[in-house]
Amino acid sequence: MRTNILGYPRVGNHRELKKACENYWSGSISAEGLLEEGAAIRKRNWSLQKENGIDLIPSNDFSLYDHILDMTLTVGAVPSRYEALAGNRLNLYFAMARGFQNEGQDVIAMEMTKWFDTNYHYIVPEFTKDQQFSLYYNKPLEEYKEAKRLGIKTKPVISGPISYLLLGKEKEGGFDRLSLLERLLPVYVQILKSLENEGAEWVQMDEPFLALDIDKKTKAEYVNVYRHLRQVCRLKIMVATYFDGLNENTSLATSLDVDALHIDLVRCPEQLGDVLAQLPAEMSLSLGIVDGRNIWKNDFTQSLEVIKKAADALGSERVFVAASCSFLHVPYDLDLETKEDVLTPEMKQWMAYAKQKVDEVSTLRILSDGNFSDEARLKLEANKFAIAHKKTSLLIHNREVKQRSAAVTDKDTSRKSPFPIRAALQHKVLNLPLFPTTTIGSFPQTADVRSWRAKFKKGLFSAADYKHLLQAETKKAIEWQESVGLDVLVHGEFERNDMVEYFGEQLAGFTFSQNGWVQSYGSRCVKPPIIYGDVHRPHPMTVDWAVYAQSLSSKYVKGMLTGPVTILQWSFVRNDQERSETCRQIALAIRDEVCDLEKAGIKIIQIDEPAIREGLPLRRGNWKAYLDWAVRSFCISSSGVDDATQIHTHMCYSEFNDIIEHIARMDADVITIECSRSQMELLDAFVKFKYPNEIGPGVYDIHSPRTPSQHEIVALLKKALEVLPPERLWVNPDCGLKTRGWAETKESLIRMVDAAKLLRSEFPSL
Ligand code: GLN
Ligand code: ZN
Repeated sequence: MRTNILGYPRVGNHRELKKACENYWSGSISAEGLLEEGAAIRKRNWSLQKENGIDLIPSNDFSLYDHILDMTLTVGAVPSRYEALAGNRLNLYFAMARGFQNEGQDVIAMEMTKWFDTNYHYIVPEFTKDQQFSLYYNKPLEEYKEAKRLGIKTKPVISGPISYLLLGKEKEGGFDRLSLLERLLPVYVQILKSLENEGAEWVQMDEPFLALDIDKKTKAEYVNVYRHLRQVCRLKIMVATYFDGLNENTSLATSLDVDALHIDLVRCPEQLGDVLAQLPAEMSLSLGIVDGRNIWKNDFTQSLEVIKKAADALGSERVFVAASCSFLHVPYDLDLETKEDVLTPEMKQWMAYAKQKVDEVSTLRILSDGNFSDEARLKLEANKFAIAHKKTSLLIHNREVKQRSAAVTDKDTSRKSPFPIRAALQHKVLNLPLFPTTTIGSFPQTADVRSWRAKFKKGLFSAADYKHLLQAETKKAIEWQESVGLDVLVHGEFERNDMVEYFGEQLAGFTFSQNGWVQSYGSRCVKPPIIYGDVHRPHPMTVDWAVYAQSLSSKYVKGMLTGPVTILQWSFVRNDQERSETCRQIALAIRDEVCDLEKAGIKIIQIDEPAIREGLPLRRGNWKAYLDWAVRSFCISSSGVDDATQIHTHMCYSEFNDIIEHIARMDADVITIECSRSQMELLDAFVKFKYPNEIGPGVYDIHSPRTPSQHEIVALLKKALEVLPPERLWVNPDCGLKTRGWAETKESLIRMVDAAKLLRSEFPSL
């Protein structure tokens, strides 16, 4: 039996790559300095895997920015706008990633989008009808040789040609990107041959689309492509799938002309039986059994059973023990969590980061080979102990929370009266003008605000000092909003660094790490909260701030919360219960907060759910089940209040047209939703589907410092009025303003308020 790792994190133990990249971009280190840092990280990653006895150690999994961008450069699919930069590889590469502005030149970056259902973002390849490919830079070969010089034999990882094309976008009409295969394949052959000549034995070709819904034509191409590669090269090819099961593509995947198949048994353990039954005798199987997407320890007892089942069916020489997917999505090393007050030893013993997971893979192999050493036996015993301990720990399990969650009924998931009755009541109580103006919640987090927080965290400011500064900032924000005539005010969210972390820090069942960084894109890393136990709300989280802000104004100030689905989506979650159950617990905690805000006199409460769409399962057949529990969770959080209390929600970052009916089922009284970047494309959905409640389609893009004109805003609102009735239209920006400066924020909002006033004058009768 052998071991296989699909990919390793690449930012470095201490985010060295992030720092090196940023220093290179600012000009404070040279290209050599940056490349040396990359080489040092690769060397450490490879050595660690070698020391752990990993058989298939990945190379070319490293990237200075993104591995799909690397592939784009490797196959020379450089969009024409970067032509002038082609002389300098590194500058070209970063220009494609980040855009380029210098002395009159202004070239925009390539698009970035989410990597399947992870929070990693890749750079989207761009294809034209007459797209040409040529080997621009053979990165897979260069990194293979680099490892070889260090005495380490690696398995180069490259994106499979079909998945590579499917990950891209056609930049003009009239062709299908899969038709480019014919031109792309010769470059792949060149790469594979160069690796073969250099002595490589295995290559991993990532084809995650095999685990997704694909059409007939794509299936046929899979067969052709791998048959062709088999004919022209002798390298052993492992096709890697992950993030979902092969399901109806099982016979296709097992019929490919390749030497091994990798499957994700964490996401889809059910697929093993079918795959074992259909795997041809000459194919090996890589069992993705150690979770590459989460930070929990592997359950050895359970894994050993799975491995045994595969080994019995195939013979152990045809089995690889492997990680489920690349370790890109987990942090580096649990040993770097040294602060016991941050991550207690009790919790740490349940966890594993990339380094620990490499050890798990190699230990599982040793344990399944039978007659193992005392050291391996001890590891097995320790693992059994940790897993058993977690199953019953009082840190995790809270009977009251479980009982409350189990007792939720339909009554808890709907408001007392239907929307028309609520709306009539709310209009009477709130007495807002036609086309009410509001913002999404946050106001600029200036350098001052951030420095206060940093000082407070370091203990340089007392809690009282910090609070007074934030109160003064809040007061300024409220006074300014009143002075320009906004109708529904916000407190500004100055006390929050992040919309999930702020709540996670106050909820039971959450913890945070000291060094649990994962790459989000390029040099940006995030440290997701860790949900380890039953979630509840020990005390109110936002009520004081909401009450303080409301006390400063006679206008209504919205209470501002993050919704359960978004909190779940942006955290590491428990693997010992369904996501839907964790989400329901969070929903109940948010419900408590909503009710407390109402009790404290807050009349309008917003529950943000920007991440609801990104939680959609990869396969369409699973959408409905997800949307059902996600919508239900939102409803649990919002339904504890009286009819007169107005519930808002907010969404952004994605296209909502295809789930608009589910959004309507959330039954928020008002939704504010991003749509100005697409010139109100969202509104197309309302031609067919009559959205029943009130809605504020964002009228300007907050991601850009550009300020919109009053005229532009009026034009967008008129466009909205073609499909929405005037009495249900709100006026607001696309999203929160925390990344903007005050000057541009003020200018834009003044124009927005003026636009609403102008429009009102055209509807005197309402
Ligand atoms: N209320 C949050 C804010 O205004 C919403 C942020 C978001 O949608 N991402 O910042
Ligand atoms: Zn938003």
